[in-house]
Amino acid sequence: MKPAFHLRLLNSYFDDPCLFVKILYEKRALLFDLGNIHTLTPSDVYKISDVFVTHTHMDHFIGFDTLLRGILRRDGPLHIYGPSSILPCIQGKLKGYTWNLIENYPTEIHVCAYDGRYVTHSLFTGKSKFKKQTISKYRSDGLLLQHPMFSVRAVKLYHGIPCLAYSLEEKSHINIDKALLTSKGLSVGPWLNDFKRILREDPGDRQQTIRIGVKTYAADELTDIVRITRGQKISYATDIALNQDNARKLLSFIKGSDTFFCEAYFLDRDRERAIERFHLTAKAAGTIAKKAGVKKLELMHFSPKYSDCPDKVIEEAMREFCV
Ligand SMILES: [Zn+2]
Ligand SMILES: [Zn+2]
Repeated sequence: MKPAFHLRLLNSYFDDPCLFVKILYEKRALLFDLGNIHTLTPSDVYKISDVFVTHTHMDHFIGFDTLLRGILRRDGPLHIYGPSSILPCIQGKLKGYTWNLIENYPTEIHVCAYDGRYVTHSLFTGKSKFKKQTISKYRSDGLLLQHPMFSVRAVKLYHGIPCLAYSLEEKSHINIDKALLTSKGLSVGPWLNDFKRILREDPGDRQQTIRIGVKTYAADELTDIVRITRGQKISYATDIALNQDNARKLLSFIKGSDTFFCEAYFLDRDRERAIERFHLTAKAAGTIAKKAGVKKLELMHFSPKYSDCPDKVIEEAMREFCV
């Protein structure tokens, strides 16, 4: 089964970390962090439906204007998620321009700020000339986005300020064994969608019935024609202070990830500096990834001080990860 996500880090190790995720089979993309996004084509920018910002330091948020310009006349909402600082920062950005001619634009920007306990949902529309509207405030255990194909969760960590890490989880793939289907005397039809929905929404309830032609079957009678494969889990974490609390939370959050995108800002020889600047070292990134049983570690966001020796940073992280 082809993975449903196409993943691309937009910049080099020394530029802003930014992960672009194209959702295959849908004209839609997700973006993790909103730093410099100039390497995206206008058509890629136009596809972005949801943005997950870790925190609003400049190297993670400067791309807001490019994004806004790219989707300004789009019919289809943009959702931006982030820590509490995301709301005043977006308001500040929007206040930097004059918006007297946009009342007919269908633009909708939903801002969902997660403080670790509650999500505060606000809305800015072209129609209201980007005046803030408060939509709702609701309790959340970190689940920010639910889609039939995938979900996105956040965990609040510390970087001198609150900083969110994210995980993107694809739902299980449900494949039908066509040969077994035929051997049961059944044929492909719209009933398969109902059957897959039952398996996806309530895999434990096998007594639900499905009508195929004139006959009715219990879901239980049909499970042998199904092959279920686990979906991918992708995690993304950057700008995290080197402390035990962060390490513990991050480890359990990224557990079992297929791919983990992680900062490796400092070398362990500059550990004191890493502590002062609230960043991870390459060694810590490798250790956490190893302990969490991650399959693939993708490094990003290196300090410019190592611009002549990126291999040293990679080596330090991989030494811990590959033992
Ligand atoms: Zn940063
Ligand atoms: Zn930062």
